[in-house]
Amino acid sequence: MIERSTADWYHLDVMDGVFVPNISFGLPVIKALNTVSKKPLDVHLMITQPERYISDFKKAGAHYLTVHVEACTHLHRTVQMIKDEGMHAGVAINPHTPLSSIEYIIEDVDLICLMSVNPGFGGQHFIEQTYSKIEHLVQLRKAKNAQALIEIDGGVTLKNAKKIIECGADVLVAGNTVFSHPNSLDVIHQLKHL
Ligand code: ZN
Repeated sequence: MIERSTADWYHLDVMDGVFVPNISFGLPVIKALNTVSKKPLDVHLMITQPERYISDFKKAGAHYLTVHVEACTHLHRTVQMIKDEGMHAGVAINPHTPLSSIEYIIEDVDLICLMSVNPGFGGQHFIEQTYSKIEHLVQLRKAKNAQALIEIDGGVTLKNAKKIIECGADVLVAGNTVFSHPNSLDVIHQLKHL
């Protein structure tokens, strides 16, 4: 269905049951998906010490690899490792984490993922403060003359997607909105149409 849809990427949430209170899937599933997918795999690591697995995710087929600022003691080094492997590097931040945490890394990354729910579970409600966070991130990106895409992850619906885009988001992640609907293809089409 996703291959036939107008969706641009797959967004894959890897959870370790430590960084977030849930376990999802890991390398073998991504590897299998990569054999049938023609679209880029955007892999979001919600795991502690993600630097341990960077080359493994490259081998599994990740095109974008995103790590959490809260999970990386040496974030700059981890971002460099991702780029050295030939992947696009992303950094994700939790809803309560201030944008100042990425102020000195934004020029070095291809994507900033703003969590708009607390990570770990699908189907949660969008946190309203995210709107102003997007606008502030747009300003920071401009001030730093950076190119990173702004990705919004969590609680994206057909109702709030337009406002999220208007605030300046480049990439919307939609899980529950797409997969809980009987006509997922049409929901993707509607989101893209916005
Ligand atoms: Zn995600």
